Amino acid sequence: MADRFDDMEEKSGGERSSQESLRKSESREETPGEYEKFCFLCRRPESKAGKLIELPNNIHICQDCMQKSFDAMNQQMSSGKLNLADMLRMPGVSMIDLGSLNNRAPQQGKIRKKKKEEEKKPALDLKKIPAPHKIKATLDEYVIGQEHAKKVMSVAVYNHYKRVATDTMDEIEIEKSNMLMIGPTGCGKTYLVKTLARLLDVPLAIADATSLTEAGYIGDDIESVVSKLLAAADNDVEKAEHGIIFIDEIDKIAKKKNTNQRDVSGEAVQQGMLKLLEGSEIEVPVGANSKNAMVPLTTVNTRNILFICGGAFPDLENIIKERLNKQASIGFYADLKDKYDNDPDILEKVTVEDIRNFGMIPEFIGRLPVIFTLSGLSEDMLVKILKEPKNAILKQYQKLLALDEVKLEFEEGALQAIAAKAMEKHTGARALRAILEDAMLDIMYEIPKDDSIGQVIITREYIEGTGGPRILLRGQELFLTDSAGA
Ligand code: ADP
Repeated sequence: MADRFDDMEEKSGGERSSQESLRKSESREETPGEYEKFCFLCRRPESKAGKLIELPNNIHICQDCMQKSFDAMNQQMSSGKLNLADMLRMPGVSMIDLGSLNNRAPQQGKIRKKKKEEEKKPALDLKKIPAPHKIKATLDEYVIGQEHAKKVMSVAVYNHYKRVATDTMDEIEIEKSNMLMIGPTGCGKTYLVKTLARLLDVPLAIADATSLTEAGYIGDDIESVVSKLLAAADNDVEKAEHGIIFIDEIDKIAKKKNTNQRDVSGEAVQQGMLKLLEGSEIEVPVGANSKNAMVPLTTVNTRNILFICGGAFPDLENIIKERLNKQASIGFYADLKDKYDNDPDILEKVTVEDIRNFGMIPEFIGRLPVIFTLSGLSEDMLVKILKEPKNAILKQYQKLLALDEVKLEFEEGALQAIAAKAMEKHTGARALRAILEDAMLDIMYEIPKDDSIGQVIITREYIEGTGGPRILLRGQELFLTDSAGA
């Protein structure tokens, strides 16, 4: 009999091993109001299978499966293989209240509750676009230094979303504020954009220009950045159309100099991006990265999408120097010929002309009207990055150890040593986390072993590998604070 029952279940579309384990996992998942209901037999959620019929023991069955079960039973009964007694042994079957099929409460909104949770309030409300100084103040909480970049971005974003929100496109067309950010690696370009998108609660897609190719070549075609954005917006086209697309390593698609070969990865990609940057209707696949017959397409208009391009532009400094030195060698200033050779802020003097000389085509630069530079991070800035941002790495470690009721402190010298080590790697702030993680590994391993430890102080010697951290036991700590207070 059991076999027969299993058979029937199989026919109804289930691939279950044992009902017991299922029922267990079902009850584990069922935190009220958190999950969608599933059909016990075919496993489809209520949103797909239609209204589910409730059976006792938290079991739900869709109307299709219920019908199939009835049909199967009818067949068996008419062929004499099943009698009423067998039927009543089936789980749930004997307890169906047919009346409930019609009288079920129309809405039992488990999904609805989930939707409510999704409606988080953004820190900055798009409808009441915050003034640039407010945007900058919020960025200040996370991003250290880069004052100029933060200011330019705040104004550009403010203008952009004002243009989007009011849709003033009539007589005086407000130009799109697409941006080009130039700065060495690890100085916070991606971080700035990510922070901005999070604060504004708009979807963000990050793409790497090196992986983009013209349509038809191996690699991601240019329009794939829009499908990434659509995915980031949970396939909500309207939300995606207000999003931000960040294209990193944009300097890698510069036109190659002195080459006779066809330039697949450079100029052609810039050309291909022009219509995206300006605003056009793009057909993108929903839920996939490439177009094919199996996925539905939808149209996304990029007119209101904010494009931010970023790159390190490694040789740009020399191009700027060359230009400035050439200017300086003319007329009165001839004696100051190499005045710019050691100028640390040389990048700030960049002009559109320099970027064009670097290899970006004029049409491309023309579509990125907001151009600004970020400075390389100094050792002092790295120390600040360690401890000051709202989600600073140090604060994260302190919180982790505080959960074990252990106080974690860093001597100023230790922070400087970490920053100095990071400077040597020439990857900006990116090296900080790796260095700190390396140093903290032993601490995080040893501390939970010993309940008596109350405080750990990381010293310069520990970071430099010439000594250990200072560890205070709980009693000692008390004693120290007592004596300090006395
Ligand atoms: P890139 O300029 O190469 O895009 P990122 O933005 O990815 O560099 O920076 C790497 C990491 O370094 C970020 O995730 C962030 O934690 C940290 N960081 C870099 N610059 C700053 C900064 N100015 N303020 C705070 N954190 C920063």
